[in-house]
Amino acid sequence: MTIKDEKIESKQIIVSDGCCVQYGNSLALDDVTFSITEGKKIAVVGPNGGGKSTLFNAITGLIPLSNGSLKINGVNPSMTKGMISYIPQKDSLNWSFQLSVKQVVDMGITSQKTLIGFSNKKNINKIKEALEKVGLADKSEDNINSLSGGQKQRVLLARAIAQDSKILLLDEAFSAVDVGAQEDIMKIINGGDLKDKTILIATHDVNNIEEKFDEVLCLNRHCCAFGDPIEVLTEDVIEEMYGSHKDAFLNHRPGDHGNTNDI
Ligand code: ADP
Repeated sequence: MTIKDEKIESKQIIVSDGCCVQYGNSLALDDVTFSITEGKKIAVVGPNGGGKSTLFNAITGLIPLSNGSLKINGVNPSMTKGMISYIPQKDSLNWSFQLSVKQVVDMGITSQKTLIGFSNKKNINKIKEALEKVGLADKSEDNINSLSGGQKQRVLLARAIAQDSKILLLDEAFSAVDVGAQEDIMKIINGGDLKDKTILIATHDVNNIEEKFDEVLCLNRHCCAFGDPIEVLTEDVIEEMYGSHKDAFLNHRPGDHGNTNDI
């Protein structure tokens, strides 16, 4: 039995009902409706500008809805303190600080405290465990800037794990890291240590999504599809998301990968 099968399906932890987000006169999210069960691993896919980051910002309460409702574990996004860890796009972070790996992880736990030194033994253990879970225990004392792009992503994942939040949001976790690093991240995501966490990963890559994720949310301002990737990631949905660029994604077909000849 796989980890996926063992999951006890229970409560709906993220419920978006007709969610709209507006910037000026333009709708970045338009009437987006979906419902995510606790513990599921979700790929959020769509073109650049499709609203993936906007959705994550709405879930974390960083931007308000202009219409509809969004409930996280039954409450409004503004009331989710400690419930969500957000791993932003790698390139949006300033890596120029001279911090060790363990200090970066510690920032997730002691964000209100000084970065110099660690607050208590409990936190030290949390940091150690989190770094072990992402396979970077031996890098704990290293300078964050000495790590590769993929390793930095894993440090951010460790920081999110140390926070011990119910929901992890990873924005473009796979951009600018190589295939090996992507696989490392997916192994951690689908490994037993994170089986109870609800994890949403924004990605452009729709290939083999059904092997990595329980469900896919297809966004192009509106929700083009949501559900089991095998069922919902059809050619029509890919067309709706990527339009004239859909050829770039056509090596995906449910149950048939890599054969683009007759599409
Ligand atoms: P994605 O993450 O899928 O690339 P975004 O959520 O970043 O998409 O962007 C969705 C749309 O909202 C885009 O048209 C983008 O230009 C616009 N947008 C995003 N953030 C802002 C902002 N702070 N102000 C104005 N427009 C924004």
